Amino acid sequence: MKRNTRQRTRVTAALNSSREFISAQNLHIMLGDEAPSLATVYRTLQGLSEEGAVDSVNRNGEFLYRLCGTSHHHHLVCVDCAATVELDGGEIEEWAARNASGHGFTMTTHIAEIYGRCAVCSA
Ligand SMILES: [Zn+2]
Ligand SMILES: [Zn+2]
Ligand SMILES: [Zn+2]
Repeated sequence: MKRNTRQRTRVTAALNSSREFISAQNLHIMLGDEAPSLATVYRTLQGLSEEGAVDSVNRNGEFLYRLCGTSHHHHLVCVDCAATVELDGGEIEEWAARNASGHGFTMTTHIAEIYGRCAVCSA
């Protein structure tokens, strides 16, 4: 348990110093010589992501992670450079709630990301 907490603290601190979404592999490199194993970094990121403590997006089949704002939001993600814009859900929020309750679901969460090329990459 103690060890887990320390890994989480280190992974969270490394995420905190990265402004962009980052892969587990790159995060592992950032942690340097004393880094926990790559498998541990993966597991820690997955746990944090399931708890909603970090956001994850899937870019070209690879999961990227970032510490984001704590309030609910969505993302625009560039598939070339991983530049990210945080978005309010807008009408999606109502759409999700309406469709969930329409099927008798009590919604716990929903995920919606927009993928494409940012202005720089599409220039
Ligand atoms: Zn986010
Ligand atoms: Zn881009
Ligand atoms: Zn939403």
